[in-house]
Amino acid sequence: MLKVKNVNDYVKDFQVIEIMSNMNHEQLVFCNDKKTGLKAIIAIHDTTLGPALGGTRMWNYNSSNEAIIDVLRLSRGMTFKAAISGLSLGGGKAVIIGDSSKDKTEALMRKFGEYVNSLGGRYITAEDVGMNTSDMVLVKKETNFVTGLPLDMGGGGNPSPVTAYGVYMGIKASSKYIWGTDNLYSKKVLVQGVGHVGENLVKHLTEEGANVIINDINKSNLKRVSDLYNCKMIESSKVYDLDVDIYSPCALGATINDETIELLKCDIVAGAANNQLKDEKKHSKMLQDKGILYAPDFLINAGGLINVYSEINGYDREKAISQTRKIFDTTLKIFHRSEKENITTHEAAYLLAQERINETKKLKNN
Ligand code: NAD
Repeated sequence: MLKVKNVNDYVKDFQVIEIMSNMNHEQLVFCNDKKTGLKAIIAIHDTTLGPALGGTRMWNYNSSNEAIIDVLRLSRGMTFKAAISGLSLGGGKAVIIGDSSKDKTEALMRKFGEYVNSLGGRYITAEDVGMNTSDMVLVKKETNFVTGLPLDMGGGGNPSPVTAYGVYMGIKASSKYIWGTDNLYSKKVLVQGVGHVGENLVKHLTEEGANVIINDINKSNLKRVSDLYNCKMIESSKVYDLDVDIYSPCALGATINDETIELLKCDIVAGAANNQLKDEKKHSKMLQDKGILYAPDFLINAGGLINVYSEINGYDREKAISQTRKIFDTTLKIFHRSEKENITTHEAAYLLAQERINETKKLKNN
């Protein structure tokens, strides 16, 4: 029997099975193909609720250890995202080691598709950073276990608008909980990052009459979105101390940390970015202590996953949207539970997801 220690102790001498055991992973698949140059890792975290679905990230990792840690961490996150969204899916993810702007070829993507196929449906892929729908079309030539396909191939196309809709639902639920109304008219909202998701979110918010302020490091896109939706823009990255009602991180992770929590003046943090809390436990508690309501990221940004999930049995956009709308009710449920049990909203969300997995495990064992 393996003795489970702190994960960082294993990272030093890189005992992969021990790391997997610590994080409760089921399977890790290493793929190496000399001819195409493919070096990929597929991680299957937990298939209690269904096949492991998660995108493939192509990234120029500095080392294979870095890639392993990334894929293990990301796949685990997918288990909880699927569980809390009520989907019959487990958590998985894949990484391809390489520069997506230089190393991606049809042969490489098809070889990757062969590896996905070899898992017989235990893992279903989709796009993530460094991938797009046309890459998934190449993967599809080798396997049916792929989602994130273009609309004309029966896929759900770009998932970002659905992700944005889910975040909008999460923001409305937060407003309902704090102010007793989900109407965002005249609420001051800072949207940090107006990329694929952020721009769509700005559209929903401005249509409802919210007072939206946007920020992005990409100046030309910032100006374009500001002109299009007639909202104020801030070029400086010093946005954390702005006097707003809602801060919506839609750019990068870890923007909620020791330094920024000090500065925040908002009542609500609710956005699309993955892993917003630098330290989940510590920073969710710090937000709570400061009286700031945090809508858990993996709950409110699940629209994209819901969208690709709906491809599995024949894509139905209306169904995907109506399932994404449920993020509103689940978010409220989490807030009430957090209040009742005196735990952070982040803990409440994890508990709900874990309970769903445990219940199914119990049923399967009977
Ligand atoms: P994107 O790359 O299209 O947009 C990100 C935007 O953030 C870009 O415009 C970029 O210039 C800007 N940005 C980067 N660093 C910044 C900084 N320091 N300050 C301000 N702006 C900055 O990405 P996206 O698809 O819109 O995703 C946004 C976030 O949501 C990411 O964290 C992503 O992981 C997460 N997410 C996306 C989806 C989806 O469906 N696309 C689903 C779940 C989670």
